[in-house]
Amino acid sequence: MNDQDNCKELEQETVKCSRCGNCRSICPVFLAENKENTTPRSKARMIEAVLNGELELTPGMQARFDKCLLCMACKTNCGSHVRTDELILKARTKLVKRNGLNPIKKAAFTGLRYRKLFDLGLRTGALFQSLIFKELPDGRGRVARIPIPGSGLNIRRVIPNLTFRPLRTRLPYFNKAQTPKSKGRVLFFTGCTLNYIYPQAGEAVVRILTRNGWDVIIPEEQCCCGTPAFTSGDSETGKFLAEQNIRSFSKENCDHIVTACSSCGEALLSEYGHLLHDSSLVDDWHELSSKVQDISQFVVQHCDLKRFGQLPLEITYHDACHLVRGMNVSSQPRQIFKAIPGLKFVEMKDADRCCGAGGTFSAVYYELSRKINDKKLDNIEATDMKYVVVGCSSCRMHITDGLSQRNSPIQVLHTAEIIDMAYAAGEKEGK
Ligand code: SF4
Ligand code: SF4
Repeated sequence: MNDQDNCKELEQETVKCSRCGNCRSICPVFLAENKENTTPRSKARMIEAVLNGELELTPGMQARFDKCLLCMACKTNCGSHVRTDELILKARTKLVKRNGLNPIKKAAFTGLRYRKLFDLGLRTGALFQSLIFKELPDGRGRVARIPIPGSGLNIRRVIPNLTFRPLRTRLPYFNKAQTPKSKGRVLFFTGCTLNYIYPQAGEAVVRILTRNGWDVIIPEEQCCCGTPAFTSGDSETGKFLAEQNIRSFSKENCDHIVTACSSCGEALLSEYGHLLHDSSLVDDWHELSSKVQDISQFVVQHCDLKRFGQLPLEITYHDACHLVRGMNVSSQPRQIFKAIPGLKFVEMKDADRCCGAGGTFSAVYYELSRKINDKKLDNIEATDMKYVVVGCSSCRMHITDGLSQRNSPIQVLHTAEIIDMAYAAGEKEGK
């Protein structure tokens, strides 16, 4: 698509907005700030003004478009079906093309392109993290010893530990089905967070799949899904990483592709379509994207829920934006929870409301993201459950930070960890 087509598409989208203002009642950023210039309709209007030549895409405009979590709540709830989140993403891309990226993001996203270097960087980071971040006594993560300006890591922010043993070093490329006969091959896209931060959730995914008779392959050449880069407007890095992943997947003979982080899943499922529209790999992506499923979707469709054993936990569930609105995953985790004997599941209020993480949003606008998070934490605490379950690593980090700062005893778990525990209990019961 050339620039002219792009502008036409943007124009067609902006004219759909009737300025009714319904999106004000749903946008978490507006609800937290109460400023008209943060509303989806105001952002659509700004893009219209740029297209009409009334406004310039100046660096000063960057902050306006950056103040969006890309939570998709506006798009889903807009009667005129304005795809505001996509408009915002396109505006960010144009702004970066015109004015460049900020130097910190530029360095970070350049690092993502070099898979081995990135891996070395994070492994070295794991070794030296104690120098800069001290571990919290409650084991939930670390806080900076001194504030790190411009990093979004003020002294109070709780960040997770980087693992010394990334997931892809713990598990082999080929993980054989634990049943006499294999049902087929599943490619597991681990993403960065399960690899470097939450490997236990990744191990749970592999156990779930192999227990249910699936061979699991974990391609070594997979790299970051690209979400941090393309959501920041760096579509070139996003495209580079998308191509690298599609090339890596194409070499494998797999029946399904499973993800366990909503941002990775949504990227593979739909965002790559935008990034690769002019790439020679777009047809490969089309074929592969039809195989992509979140672990909870896969379990409901291809695993045996009758083998769950007693799991006497008390949980509530947070719908990650990219799962519920990006991948249409909402009923599946609930179906799973209801199938686990002994599990007490209580819905929280507004379970599908954004937690305020928004990937790099919480680094840039930490205080605002905490304010948005506070509503989520109130709703979690009101359920009086012991665990909150999520299917997105970014949400997991942000909710853990919030709960830790409130000294709340509630723990955060990944959906895959719950499923894995239920299967382990079932095994003990001889199921
Ligand atoms: S984006 Fe949709 S909900 Fe918001 S003002 Fe425009 S038409 Fe109304
Ligand atoms: S995507 Fe979410 S944060 Fe962004 S404008 Fe829409 S509702 Fe607001």
